[in-house]
Amino acid sequence: MAISPSPASNTKPPLLSAAEALSHLLKNPEPVEGRELVPTQDALGRVLAENIVSTVDVPPLDNTSMDGYAVATQDIPQPGVTLKVDQRIPAGSVGEPLKPKTIARIFTGAPIPPGADAVVMQEDCTTQAQSDLVQINSIPSMGQWIRRRGEDLSVGKVALSAGTVLRPQHLGVAASAGYAELPVKRRVRVAAFFTGDELSLPGEPLKPGGIYNSNRDTLLGLIRSLGCIGTDYGIVPDRLEATRQALRTASEDHDLIITSGGVSVGEEDHIKPAVHSEGRLDLWQIGIKPGKPLAFGAVRKQNQTGSEAWFIGLPGNPVSSFVTFILFVRPFILKLQGRSDFTPPSFLVRADFDWSKPDRRNEFLRVKLNAVGGLDLFPNQSSGVLTSAAWGDGLIDCPAGQGFKKGDMVRYIPFSGLLY
Ligand code: AMP
Ligand code: MG
Repeated sequence: MAISPSPASNTKPPLLSAAEALSHLLKNPEPVEGRELVPTQDALGRVLAENIVSTVDVPPLDNTSMDGYAVATQDIPQPGVTLKVDQRIPAGSVGEPLKPKTIARIFTGAPIPPGADAVVMQEDCTTQAQSDLVQINSIPSMGQWIRRRGEDLSVGKVALSAGTVLRPQHLGVAASAGYAELPVKRRVRVAAFFTGDELSLPGEPLKPGGIYNSNRDTLLGLIRSLGCIGTDYGIVPDRLEATRQALRTASEDHDLIITSGGVSVGEEDHIKPAVHSEGRLDLWQIGIKPGKPLAFGAVRKQNQTGSEAWFIGLPGNPVSSFVTFILFVRPFILKLQGRSDFTPPSFLVRADFDWSKPDRRNEFLRVKLNAVGGLDLFPNQSSGVLTSAAWGDGLIDCPAGQGFKKGDMVRYIPFSGLLY
């Protein structure tokens, strides 16, 4: 795939804007095919594969939303009328038609008996000990405290639409519509490996000059929290053949391969030539900070002619790979999942600090909402300082070259809106 970068500014290589890079990325994938039927209670976070229509009316009958008395309003023209309680209707049972000049003791959720057209709550009534007479102290209006049959869902009505990401409340709606199982899209399968001779796994001794592989846990955590199957192919040394082999293995049975590190063009950066040999690749320079280099392409599957796994190579710095995942991999995965809500939720929030030396790139600052509704900045914004992202609860999307002053409104992307 060839892309046309934005016009070059001075002599530096042209930088794509985040929006341009995203629009190039999203042109590519089609939603994965395949679906399965899963128990409703196991469908959390899955993507609904087809519309589901209600099999029942919800609620199934007109019923009371209060404990009190079901009445015929015509029997109570003024406050203080005393009427006889002729029946008792708890939730889960169905009453008899209301006889003239009688009322029914009724409890929340119980069906309104035929002949009643309102409920008077028990707080508006006076009862007498050892008596079935009740004084009604207010004039009921027709329909009061009655929940109508089908006001939530009616038989045949679409209860949930295809493409919905199933959150707990959606599972509840599916259950109320009578669904014990739901048709969902198959999970997107994402393989990940991590390049770098300096990397060790936690639990192993660190090599001299080495660091622990933190990207594995951050990136696989992000992948899985989007409802994907994430497969870990481990640490891959900075060698061309090892990188090619890892690509061949990871491409099998996966829709997408994510890597970290090795996407610059130094001698130890083998992602570009390796993906080039195993498929096709574009290396992009994106005008964002952190996370300038990003590789995008596809790797041929060995076992299926003509079939490919998508490839996105993220930079190695832990904050860079975290931010580029959020900005680019997340929407790409959402597209594979058949979703269309690519833009992360964001809103304007007051910055409680000055940002007076803006970068010439579009910067994503790690910040946290404070108790007075403003945003505080993590003091160290280095792309290697992952504690900034752990401390923060979101990012400020700071346009290239634009500073701001304490008190200004800035665009805040909360991390909480990014998962599922
Ligand atoms: P690279 O993109 O390979 O040039 O790596 C950039 C920086 O990120 C280097 O300081 C690496 O040591 C660091 N880095 C690369 N991969 C990882 C990883 N998996 N976990 C933590 N740091 C990493
Ligand atoms: Mg490296």
